[in-house]
Amino acid sequence: MHDETGYQPLRPQAKGLGEFLAPVAGFGVTFASMFKPAVTEDYPRKKVAPQRRYHGRHQLNRYADGLEKCIGCELCAWACPADAIYVEGASNADLPENADAPQGALAADSPEGAHISPGERYGRVYQINYLRCIFCGLCIEACPTRALTMSNDYELAGNSREGMIYEKQDLLAPLSEGMLAAPHPMAEGTTDTDYYRGDVLGATQAQVDWVRERRPDDETLAAAEAVAAGKQAGPASRQHELRPDAGPGEAEKAAGAAAVGSVHSPEAAGAGATAPVVRAATPGTAEPGGDAGRGVR
Ligand code: SF4
Repeated sequence: MHDETGYQPLRPQAKGLGEFLAPVAGFGVTFASMFKPAVTEDYPRKKVAPQRRYHGRHQLNRYADGLEKCIGCELCAWACPADAIYVEGASNADLPENADAPQGALAADSPEGAHISPGERYGRVYQINYLRCIFCGLCIEACPTRALTMSNDYELAGNSREGMIYEKQDLLAPLSEGMLAAPHPMAEGTTDTDYYRGDVLGATQAQVDWVRERRPDDETLAAAEAVAAGKQAGPASRQHELRPDAGPGEAEKAAGAAAVGSVHSPEAAGAGATAPVVRAATPGTAEPGGDAGRGVR
């Protein structure tokens, strides 16, 4: 069929009753939808957890004895295409707690003395500007210690530009039950490589004693001592824990995330509550650089 303007309808035009009802035919979709269940999310009254691999707010993770994984290397800042990350590293030897140590007593790789993170350095300043961040995830790919991962938290809004710059204390994972608050020495006889390979599964008695001597009122002492004494299992990683107020039906996802996030916990390693808090080195069995964060990036 052709008209004078050259318009050619793809479907043949209706005739008779069909032609009469054509102007209101589109309402049929509306009427049919009225009797179907609503799919609209009732946000913010009911928060729905996104997929586990969702790129949400960043998180700075800890080792099982409470030391921080970030070593202040700035690789995440260099990898960021939006220039949203600012990091300043510092030496563990320069911590105020080490001020009385004899000159040269704290070698760069010494497990003794106060540490914020294993090894020589730690992240003293850590900022992410969420007005710039595009959540691409290149920073977590660059991180050599799996310190930086991305959580499922998508509620990132603020009333001021300054408030959208998250500081280290906003990003650091909270201490899990059984972790010992830093600073404190590394687990005796270990190196930062042992930490990196996931062989430190909780605080040791020597670490607990060191903290008790200097901070007797520290609230994390009791639980950490129970772990050190083998009365309690070591703390599981809190990486990528879905928010506790995740909506119904998300329990399964949360369980899956917890299973992924605790592969280096004593339970996942097949050890009981009396497992040693520092796993014996088994060359060739540990995944180099392996960490709970790998599976949930
Ligand atoms: S988060 Fe990772 S990449 Fe960034 S400074 Fe810390 S250790 Fe380095």
